[in-house]
Amino acid sequence: MATGRNTGFTVWLTGLSGAGKTTIGHALAAELERRGAHVEMLDGDVVRTHLSKGLGFSREDRDTNIERIGWVASRLTRHGAAVVVAAISPYDATRKRVRALVSEHGPFVEVWVKAPVEECARRDVKGLYAKAFAGEITHFTGVDDPYEDPEDAEVVADTVALTPETSVALVLAELERIGAVPDATPAAC
Ligand code: ADP
Repeated sequence: MATGRNTGFTVWLTGLSGAGKTTIGHALAAELERRGAHVEMLDGDVVRTHLSKGLGFSREDRDTNIERIGWVASRLTRHGAAVVVAAISPYDATRKRVRALVSEHGPFVEVWVKAPVEECARRDVKGLYAKAFAGEITHFTGVDDPYEDPEDAEVVADTVALTPETSVALVLAELERIGAVPDATPAAC
């Protein structure tokens, strides 16, 4: 565990496609930048076009993808970055492995971005649920592929009940509680 100057950390947003990970992640990243952090966002979809190009959606490929993201997050955390990951990361054991990897260098805050599949399908931001329910795409998380509910999430952001702003505030409150970011309220002097 790193101590002293400029300790980095990783916020890991997990949840179904369309649950709100990217929305909350971008808003969180903007607020962390405003507070002076060096932010790096690792978005699962973007990572799949670069670092994990060619990987599919079998359990093995999903695990490889998540472990690559976890490894990059741990390296960035080591160098003092505020890392925001938005990736479905459906398997709890894999999330535990990346938690262990990152925790060698700084705090790991797991955020369950929670919305039922019916709500995600209603939003259908990318039009993928319609295709998955029609059988045009398979191995789609929440439809014909599993999503294991997080056992260790520090924050649960229920995006049916909470606005994105409130979800971001919950994550920030946790980061402040563990001392990963300074309190937003300036000390009186
Ligand atoms: P993911 O990254 O999890 O696939 P996105 O952030 O891309 O999800 O999409 C979530 C969609 O749901 C966005 O269009 C967002 O505007 C919408 N949405 C509606 N209500 C909420 C909420 N309370 N929190 C987050 N997103 C919400």
